[in-house]
Amino acid sequence: MERIHNFSAGPAMLPQEVLEQARDELPNWQGCGMSVMEMSHRGKEFMGILAQAEADLRELMAIPANYKVLFLQGGATLQFAQIPLNLLAGRSADYLVSGSWSKKAYKEAQRFGTVRCAGTTEADKFTRWLAPDEIQLDPNAAYLHVCTNETIHGVEVHDVAGLSGNVPLVADMSSHILSRPIDVSRYALIYAGAQKNIGPAGVTIVILRDDLLGHAPANIPTLLDYAVQAENGSMLNTPPTYAIYMAGLVFKWLKRQGGLNAIEKINLEKAQLLYDTIDASSLYRNPVEPSCRSRMNIPFTLTKSSLDESFIAEAKKHGIVQIKGHSSVGGMRASIYNAMPIDGVRALTQFMQEFERSHV
Ligand SMILES: *Cc1c(COP(=O)(O)O)cnc(C)c1O
Repeated sequence: MERIHNFSAGPAMLPQEVLEQARDELPNWQGCGMSVMEMSHRGKEFMGILAQAEADLRELMAIPANYKVLFLQGGATLQFAQIPLNLLAGRSADYLVSGSWSKKAYKEAQRFGTVRCAGTTEADKFTRWLAPDEIQLDPNAAYLHVCTNETIHGVEVHDVAGLSGNVPLVADMSSHILSRPIDVSRYALIYAGAQKNIGPAGVTIVILRDDLLGHAPANIPTLLDYAVQAENGSMLNTPPTYAIYMAGLVFKWLKRQGGLNAIEKINLEKAQLLYDTIDASSLYRNPVEPSCRSRMNIPFTLTKSSLDESFIAEAKKHGIVQIKGHSSVGGMRASIYNAMPIDGVRALTQFMQEFERSHV
């Protein structure tokens, strides 16, 4: 059966090579006579898989030695709570509210202490990143939280230099981690649910600087204490072993593509192709200010919204699926993460042009 062009925002498509390797290794991993799903998480096989996944991620992102890499559960959503629980330590934290996800993070953090909105673009319907003079930072904040790629609104911040001053910068990178090289040392903590650009749902990656460990209150649930998770190598309890294995296969695949510099070039080309198609048309429209358009999640509306349903139905006939936009924004959204080949984006843009010719 032919694979379809899957533009889902998450869980999202995985590289075909990775799926095929997982299929081949499913019942008998590297001759050990069992599946990764059936292994003890403390056995030498799985310990090796975890160590290799961490080493490959460290290499891909050039993670400095004074950062821990944790493989946790609960999704990015649990991080909305785990971050303030660990880092507030009786102080206040700042949040930039640049879309639905950072707004959710901000709301959740309010349950655990004092948090401030240090700037928002909500009045502009989250169609751009914040201008420097719209950000009012508290220099004594425990941290500044940002979402560097807003998956629903399609807003990406392309440069965080100087964003938080001396305040530790905490970033939700769920939907664009590994899409480009970044300077990890600019961040105090980076987190990402896996199911967008890393692997299947079930594992959440947290990369955090050593000095952030050990400030949690005494009554924090043990499982949520970053320091305890770090001491135990993410193995305080059973980790999501199969999801970690799959993430590890994706890291190896990324290395074979040439790493993050190489994947960034392809991602730029893919995004350019789709934005050019949208901007050249009178039917499609992307509302985001060009300087902050996401390379990963590209929302667009049809100027004739009465055509929405036929667009989705005809797209499906062309093997193009999961293209409907988030209900809060409407219209369409094409998520084009690392695993989406440029041919998939070409199939979409060709379909969009044909559809416009035949309906306008
Ligand atoms: C999907 C997403 C989340 C939520 O992730 P879960 O793993 O479902 O909790 C949070 N932030 C961003 C930016 C996302 O794209």
